[in-house]
Amino acid sequence: MDKFDVIVVGGGHAGAEAAFAVSRSGLSCALITMDQTKIGQMSCNPAIGGLGKSHIVREIDAMGGLMGRATDLSGIQYRTLNTRKGDAVQALRVQCDRDLYKKAVQKILKETNVKIIQDEVVDFLLTNKKAQGVITKSKTYKSKKIILTTGTFLNGKMYTGNIIKTGGRIGDESSIPLSKRLYSLNLPMGRLKTGTPARIKLSSINLLDMEEQPGEKPTPWMSLASPPKKHQKQLSCYITRTNKKTHEIINKNIHLSAMYSGEIKGIGPRYCPSIEDKVRKFQDKNSHQIFIEPEGINKDLVYPNGISTSLPKKAQQEFIFSIKGLERSIITEYGYAVEYDFVDPRTLKQNLETKYLENLYLAGQINGTTGYEEAAAQGLMAGINASNSIKKLKDFVLERSEAYIGVLINDLISHGITEPYRMFTSRAEHRLLLSQNNAEQRLILKANEIGIVKKERVDEYLSGEKEYTKFYTNTEIKYSGYIKKQIREINKTKKQNNKQIPLNIKYGEIHGLSNEVKEKLTKTQPQTIGAASQIEGVTPAAINLILIHLKKKELVSQNV
Ligand SMILES: Cc1cc2nc3c(=O)[nH]c(=O)nc-3n(C[C@H](O)[C@H](O)[C@H](O)COP(=O)(O)OP(=O)(O)OC[C@H]3O[C@@H](n4cnc5c(N)ncnc54)[C@H](O)[C@@H]3O)c2cc1C
Repeated sequence: MDKFDVIVVGGGHAGAEAAFAVSRSGLSCALITMDQTKIGQMSCNPAIGGLGKSHIVREIDAMGGLMGRATDLSGIQYRTLNTRKGDAVQALRVQCDRDLYKKAVQKILKETNVKIIQDEVVDFLLTNKKAQGVITKSKTYKSKKIILTTGTFLNGKMYTGNIIKTGGRIGDESSIPLSKRLYSLNLPMGRLKTGTPARIKLSSINLLDMEEQPGEKPTPWMSLASPPKKHQKQLSCYITRTNKKTHEIINKNIHLSAMYSGEIKGIGPRYCPSIEDKVRKFQDKNSHQIFIEPEGINKDLVYPNGISTSLPKKAQQEFIFSIKGLERSIITEYGYAVEYDFVDPRTLKQNLETKYLENLYLAGQINGTTGYEEAAAQGLMAGINASNSIKKLKDFVLERSEAYIGVLINDLISHGITEPYRMFTSRAEHRLLLSQNNAEQRLILKANEIGIVKKERVDEYLSGEKEYTKFYTNTEIKYSGYIKKQIREINKTKKQNNKQIPLNIKYGEIHGLSNEVKEKLTKTQPQTIGAASQIEGVTPAAINLILIHLKKKELVSQNV
């Protein structure tokens, strides 16, 4: 039987990053995926970065990951967003050539020891609640650790109007036996959904009727390491808008939309709504922006960002034709919604191993997130932690105050999700300290301690450190008051989090706590304030009440 240290299931953004991390840790790794030609495939829009997300890409990059590099090998338009705001919330967004991105990911993995296996995983090799390998349709493989990164594929169903097909995304099969197996293992699971727009031939669009949006000059890079010699050819995006007529067509057909007919039970991302959602929820608006984004350098295809839909084909065609510049569109693929299983991430430990099954790690969309960047970040962390565990090293955990990746994982495992989770800068309470530009300063040396960053990269960073200090001092002067305050808060929170809660505490006696919170705390019996604050629904206000209660008890016992 073939044996590996780690088996990664899935070759999306989480899987690629996980396998790459394991190989950098010096361990043997197999990546098993349903279609090896699609490793690194961008299932939806061909872009990396953007608000809150470029921070994650730079953090992955600072820890030696591949996403930033692949972006620079395929980037066809770079733009920094939020330029009128402070450095901490500025974000680089890169339009990529979809095929070149995938090619770059595959090339990077090809240069490692990762063994790529094309097959479908249907079950686990189990002994006493310990996962010890996987069973595919054709073979059994043994491994010390398994990282599941199945994305939108678990029992995936695609919807266009009343047409329902099984599939993880267009052109791909759904992963049904594995979904059944996870349910039978009693993992807490649910359904989520997301959607994508139609694709249109560039040559059928009248760009003269649209506003051109060129890229930034000089063109920046996503990765902070030495860049490739030259950027790819840079292209413009274009902007058009929906109008009253578009909205009338959508309203007229709304009952035919899979999302509105009640066919789809899963919850979708609120911040990334379908055009049906936008028209229904914002009835006072009679126009919504659409970005016409090129799919690639020599490709006669665009991605119309902003009109994802699950309306029937005829209705999609009708509303697209009503939009300025799109009147003569040739649609090559219609929009659809996809519904899939996810696993409640509160079942994960901070190293992303499940509490249910030893040696099984989960990363990416399977944990209820959405987005390539969020998936890649979890893949990296699962890859590092699975490797650390094999090497008997301690868990590699990032604090909320040192990385967006820390915020992401902490949010997932402590609060779970109520809709597909996307990163925003507003999720990070210490965001002034977390710029996309200081990711290396925050993380490269920490990652270097566990040997996952190339020596040349670390040397390059150390020699450029002086330049950075100049920049950071400038930023610090501007925001010094706030930064100092945040550092004080972090130190206070750290101290507070370590405060022990006596086992005999009676939450019922604490005035002001809701019955729900009292029940949860009594059931969970957290040992520290930090652990209490991680429980879903236990708000900072509730923590304050507990702290006041503990203080009073201490004073009483001192008087006695
Ligand atoms: C229609 C659609 C619309 C989307 N819209 C958005 C959006 O608007 N905004 C956004 O941020 N994100 C969107 N996404 C999500 C985005 O594609 C994902 O966030 C991202 O790809 C997740 O990466 P991942 O690595 O977790 O999974 P994926 O990229 O989905 O990769 C999953 C991998 O697992 C493999 N796999 C699955 N099951 C098995 C098995 N049993 N055996 C072997 N291999 C298996 C697959 O072959 C694939 O390689 C959309 C996705 C789809 C499909």
